[in-house]
Amino acid sequence: MWCAARGYALPALLTHIDAGTAPADVPGLCWWDGQESRANEESRRTVAPADIPSPDYDLWQQAIDASPIAEYVHPKLVVEGARGCWWGEKHHCTFCGLNGSAMTFRAKPGNRLWDEVDRLVRRHRILDIVTVDNIIDMAYFKDFLPLAADSDWDLRMHYEVKSNLTAEQLELLARAGSVHIQPGIESLGNRALDLMDKGVSGSRNIRTLRECENHSLTCSWNYLYGFPGETDQDYASVIDQMPALVHLQPPGGAHRIQLERFSPNFANPALGFPQRRPAEMYRHVYDLPEDQLADLVYLFDTPPAGIGGGTEARLKAAARDWYTGHPASTLVLEQPAGDETLLVHDRRHGWPRRTHRLTGWHAAALRHLEAGRTRSALHRLLTADGNPPTGAELNAWLGEAVALGLLFDDGRSYVSLPTWHVPVRSVERAQAPDGTAGGASGTPDNGEKAAE
Ligand code: SF4
Repeated sequence: MWCAARGYALPALLTHIDAGTAPADVPGLCWWDGQESRANEESRRTVAPADIPSPDYDLWQQAIDASPIAEYVHPKLVVEGARGCWWGEKHHCTFCGLNGSAMTFRAKPGNRLWDEVDRLVRRHRILDIVTVDNIIDMAYFKDFLPLAADSDWDLRMHYEVKSNLTAEQLELLARAGSVHIQPGIESLGNRALDLMDKGVSGSRNIRTLRECENHSLTCSWNYLYGFPGETDQDYASVIDQMPALVHLQPPGGAHRIQLERFSPNFANPALGFPQRRPAEMYRHVYDLPEDQLADLVYLFDTPPAGIGGGTEARLKAAARDWYTGHPASTLVLEQPAGDETLLVHDRRHGWPRRTHRLTGWHAAALRHLEAGRTRSALHRLLTADGNPPTGAELNAWLGEAVALGLLFDDGRSYVSLPTWHVPVRSVERAQAPDGTAGGASGTPDNGEKAAE
């Protein structure tokens, strides 16, 4: 077999089974040798991307076709471009237990991935593509997504991405046929994002949510809290500003992080979770003593860290209000032709129905803040435009624009909130987080974890 010669475990095992020989040299294999339990040393070597075979779904297709429930099933093609995480290699997010066996990022070349997608679409006549990658290979913006964008396929792709993509990158994702992304947003507060080593800011995450509206990308995410060291104060400003975000796609809910095996929080008890025991649910599945469960399971129960009490309740309530108010909310920019005036039509749930008119440097400032900038960077740009406000004028306008819900302030930088477009919101959801009634929403209720 082609892979056996390279020493990969499963092909080597299959070769032994074929030949009827003892699998004594298969790395990582555990087996019963008569009454004796044996375990070979695990190999730390990863499978080279070029050696990852293309999926063969022919038998699956036959089973689907023969199934009496075929007409009720909407099958999707699952493809894999990359394994590991290029962010986690350098800055492992403290809560993340993904990639326990190997964090090292490795990806198929983009043109090979496209060949696989193209072949599978032609063979199965299915346009829904789910990528299983934990994080998109940034090279795919050059050698995979353009091929998908230039194809004749009306793909509907799902991708997990990092939440620092630019507006142009999100536009390309959408043009390539992505309809659903899972960015690692996790929080809108800088302090919590810093504590989890996420590598993005609150403003950057807001920019991602806003650009998802602009490019009709459904966005799945959860608001995570419970990071050791966070305080009530770290959440106050974000919770106060959440009503202004109601036109952007809401989190599926606000959830306390769990301790995951393989995460930095698990590996280093000094990060804040010294007490841990196997999560309670496992006791209903495995009839084993606790010390054996502790060797087996992925999730652990711990005493709660970070916020609790009133702040936790306020965060959950704000996330729920965001969710329920979202379907009826828009905040849309308009620029009349040949005019530098900006109109912002506010139709957000819970806000007065009105249109804001911005002229001169106010309009320029709102446009400059689409990228998200500090106050001083904004002032430099307005000065370069030739019509700078005084420092006091700029401070007053920033405060007013935040109060009107036109800007989000993460404490370091500001980002504008109005969108240029309103995407079609077509996915019906019967229940909001925490059991309240929900309505139409762009975010499917698929129970996915928010980590990329
Ligand atoms: S949460 Fe996402 S970005 Fe962070 S280490 Fe895990 S896979 Fe990588």
